[in-house]
Amino acid sequence: MHLLIVEDDRLLGQALVAGLEQAGFQPDWVRDGLVAWTTVQAEQFSALVLDIGLPRLSGLDLLRRLRQAGSAMPVLLLTARDTPQDIIAGLNAGADDYLIKPFDMGELAARLRAIVRRGAGHAAPILKQGDLYLDPANRIVMRAGESVDLSVREYDLLHLLLLSAGKVKTRAQLEAQLYCWGDAVESNALEVHVHHLRRKLGAELIRTVRGVGYMIPA
Ligand code: CA
Repeated sequence: MHLLIVEDDRLLGQALVAGLEQAGFQPDWVRDGLVAWTTVQAEQFSALVLDIGLPRLSGLDLLRRLRQAGSAMPVLLLTARDTPQDIIAGLNAGADDYLIKPFDMGELAARLRAIVRRGAGHAAPILKQGDLYLDPANRIVMRAGESVDLSVREYDLLHLLLLSAGKVKTRAQLEAQLYCWGDAVESNALEVHVHHLRRKLGAELIRTVRGVGYMIPA
C-alpha cells in the first residue's frame, strides 16, 4: 500500500519510512509542503501521513487544498503541538485522524490501516469474500480455513482489490498504489501477479475488465 509521508524533519522522516516499510507499507517521503501538493495532484496514494509544521506550505493548508480539490485520500496528521486548537483545526480541515509526536510506530500503522479501511467503506477489520479471508493487521490470507502463502506484491494486490470489491480498479490505480518511486516494475508485472493469485486462489476470483483493469465482484 503506497503512502506519502510529508515530514521536514530528516530523522523522523527516515524513521517513518523504515517503520512503515516494516509494517508492510510502501512509503515515499517528501520534506516540503509545496512539493507534497504537486505530488498528490499528480499521483495516487492509499493514504497521506502529514506533518503540520512544514516549509513553504503548512500541513493544514495542504490539507485544505486537497479537500477543496475534491480528494478523498485518507489523511493522518502528525503534530508536535498537542494543543487542542491544532487538532480541532486539523480535523475540521478534513483530516481523518492525528497522532501527537512522539508516537508509537505500531499505533501509527494501526491507525493508517483503520483510515484506509474506513475510506474504502469497510467497518470490519477482516476482509471477506466467500470463503476467502484477509487480515490486514497480521497480513494473513486464508481460503476455506487453510492459510495461503502469497508474495508481498500478491498480498498487496489482493488487499487493494478486496478493499474495493465490486468496483473496477484501473491498471494505473493499481500500479500507483502498489509501488514506490524508483521500484523497478516490469510492464507486465501486474498481469503476472494476477496470474499467480488466480492460480493460488481460483481462476474465478479476479475478473478482468478488458481495456480497463481488474475487479473482485462484491
Ligand atoms: Ca515539521
